[in-house]
Amino acid sequence: MAHYETTIKATAKHTIYYRYRCEFCGRDTGWLSYTITETGAATGRSSSLNSKANLTKAAEKAALKKLNIILSVAKQSAAKSRKPALFLEKNCPACGKLQS
Ligand SMILES: [Zn+2]
Repeated sequence: MAHYETTIKATAKHTIYYRYRCEFCGRDTGWLSYTITETGAATGRSSSLNSKANLTKAAEKAALKKLNIILSVAKQSAAKSRKPALFLEKNCPACGKLQS
């Protein structure tokens, strides 16, 4: 007997707002936004509608888990330093220079 498996993907999004003072021209960037998008996936049998719903839930959970890790890294780095986190836009909007 054959059985089929399916992979369901889900996406979680969250926009964070941040600002920093440029280390070259000294200007405040004003509020900038950055949207974090993470995908999660779950694989399993989807023979019934019920198990498909469970797979969707698991995929959403996986996406949210990844998103929360990134958000906590962003919060930690914001608390420790006045510079943008690794994955944020690091080019000053005024002079265009890359922050160290
Ligand atoms: Zn600048």
